[in-house]
Amino acid sequence: MPDEKVIVVGLGAHGSSTVYHLASRGIDVIGLDRYRPPHSIGSSHGPSRIFREAYKEGPDYVPLLRRARELWNRLNVDFGTPSFTVTGGLFMGQPTGRAMTGMQATSKVHDVEIEMLTPSEVRKRYPAFHIPDGWQAIYEVNSGAIFPEVAVEAQLTLAEKAGADLHFDEQVEGWTSTGSSVTVVTTHGEYQADRLILTAGVWLPGLLGDLELPFDIERVSLWMVKPRANHDFFRAGNFPNASFELDERYPLYMQADFGTGVKLALDHHGTPTTAETVSRETTSNDYDKIFKEIRRFVPDLDGEVLGSAVCMYTNTPDLNFVVDRHPEYENVIIGSACSGHGFKFAPVMGEMLSDLAIHGSSKFDLDMFSARRFV
Ligand SMILES: Cc1cc2nc3c(=O)[nH]c(=O)nc-3n(C[C@H](O)[C@H](O)[C@H](O)COP(=O)(O)OP(=O)(O)OC[C@H]3O[C@@H](n4cnc5c(N)ncnc54)[C@H](O)[C@@H]3O)c2cc1C
Repeated sequence: MPDEKVIVVGLGAHGSSTVYHLASRGIDVIGLDRYRPPHSIGSSHGPSRIFREAYKEGPDYVPLLRRARELWNRLNVDFGTPSFTVTGGLFMGQPTGRAMTGMQATSKVHDVEIEMLTPSEVRKRYPAFHIPDGWQAIYEVNSGAIFPEVAVEAQLTLAEKAGADLHFDEQVEGWTSTGSSVTVVTTHGEYQADRLILTAGVWLPGLLGDLELPFDIERVSLWMVKPRANHDFFRAGNFPNASFELDERYPLYMQADFGTGVKLALDHHGTPTTAETVSRETTSNDYDKIFKEIRRFVPDLDGEVLGSAVCMYTNTPDLNFVVDRHPEYENVIIGSACSGHGFKFAPVMGEMLSDLAIHGSSKFDLDMFSARRFV
């Protein structure tokens, strides 16, 4: 493999990590992006993302999360400006809800450090949180925050330093594969390589040709606010990641003010869209939806809005990722890790996609991410 060439399409969270891993291993890699990441057009912008390990989505994710944590820490050192920091995380919900049951089950299997709290303990420690009677809380000691735009910049900078040939503002229009070589056509020309890795986020469905995978694109909004009281509590260093699991299972969540305001979002409360037709401005409807919940659970955060953004998820029906070789072309690899929870995996995604390209397999069990589960 060392003499072979790999093309990576899409240099957001996962593509930037992939070109970094490939170039660091001495692989000849070309990275192509239609914009100049980090940008605010896809899935990877905003002040922060949550890293958590007591994974309600299932214990099988934990080996990946542990490797991702190692690699985030390494990226902090290699780049100098941190992409990742430990904040702790307080997750609240009904005792029978998916968060409380799933987090406890995963923690038990993998010995994740958590602490169970009653509503009165939460109120005593964190008076700003209005947790309902009858709920429960789990404090995850080593939950953290990732700074997505710093992370993408870090991975691209280090990839270029390691020899990756990166092309920005160059859109891929199509590709063909013979099974052993690929030709990629862009707005600027044509490239040949031995392997192709597709990490195009919400644009991926348009790059899969005849292969139909059930990706639904969802439009969501995120908000940055200045608390109207107790600002010190919400500042970085004092405030843990926090979430309230709503009736529909998905949470209202928030992260500390790292300088641009406290980040607020509602998970999976968005609307269906497409990458090309999405409406990019937040609306009063978006605002009403989230601030109705904020007034109920954290009224101190019903303060001045400092900023807002529209962001997109690429959802699969089971909300697990697709990390696999193309069912028809062995040398084409698909990397779609989203369904609203993919950023924290970016470094390990790059490692797994590089291993699939170089060795045809990964040391991690990728069965649950198989493209074949849908075809
Ligand atoms: C509001 C919000 C909150 C989230 N919170 C969390 C969280 O707390 N924790 C967590 O782990 N995850 C979270 N996620 C999910 C996470 O952010 C995504 O899973 C991740 O950003 C997906 O990265 P990606 O590389 O697939 O896509 P992107 O970063 O969007 O990258 C895709 C890239 O492909 C390029 N591209 C597309 N088409 C082409 C083409 N034809 N030619 C060339 N280039 C192309 C695009 O320009 C883009 O740069 C959240 C997502 C959102 C939207």
